[in-house]
Amino acid sequence: MLSLKEEVLRGIYEEFEKWSAEEIVCTKGCAACCTQNVLITAVEGELIHRFIRDQGKEEWMAAKMQEKAVTKRVQMTTNSFAASCLQGDDVIPESYGNEKPCAFLEDNCCSIYDVRPFSCRCFISEIICKSGVPAVIGETYLSASSAVMQIVEHLGQGEYFGNMFDVLLALCDLPENKKLMRLLSASLSNQGRAKVIKALPLPGFLLVEEEMGKIQPLLEAIFSHKVGDRTIENILNNR
Ligand code: SF4
Ligand code: SF4
Repeated sequence: MLSLKEEVLRGIYEEFEKWSAEEIVCTKGCAACCTQNVLITAVEGELIHRFIRDQGKEEWMAAKMQEKAVTKRVQMTTNSFAASCLQGDDVIPESYGNEKPCAFLEDNCCSIYDVRPFSCRCFISEIICKSGVPAVIGETYLSASSAVMQIVEHLGQGEYFGNMFDVLLALCDLPENKKLMRLLSASLSNQGRAKVIKALPLPGFLLVEEEMGKIQPLLEAIFSHKVGDRTIENILNNR
């Protein structure tokens, strides 16, 4: 059974998917964007761990974690970046990941597709990406993705935030992941904890008025989405 936060996360994914009907060229088997440069929150990691446990694939997961590339400790979350921008600070987003292919890629397809994190869900393109030809996507879509990332981080505030494999390693110390923990070396799981930071609450959206108008229907759909008898807005405001 999913936790309340996992249910909320699923609701956010569902509403974003309904809203995003862009003209994209992404197809199954196209995976140049699948690098180890994906940032996630703990609740997104917990959903992935639950998926692995439910299938009894801990040994498979341990092998994937050994394939983890070297990453840097994250310095800023999406919400701390937004807070700095809103204060007028001059900040440049940094890359903390590694451009090596994601360890979850198998035959160029995502092996955890159903529970892939939001950063993967929102990464699309209007042209086929190639070496030297990055993804192209509309401004409104980019702004909406950033706003939803901020909501996802708000949901996981106070918990781990970082590169996907670092968060997954850090979460191995949860009692429900003890089987996986036994399969990993202590140094590997310590590495994950050393590289993650805490997710922060939403400081405000980085949206200009015109964008806010276009994205409002998505935000309203997310906030009014029901989980049980409560809306996501109510759950996020009554932590
Ligand atoms: S974003 Fe680019 S690399 Fe990724 S699936 Fe779409 S076209 Fe392929
Ligand atoms: S988790 Fe899946 S969608 Fe995300 S980068 Fe890895 S293989 Fe690609």
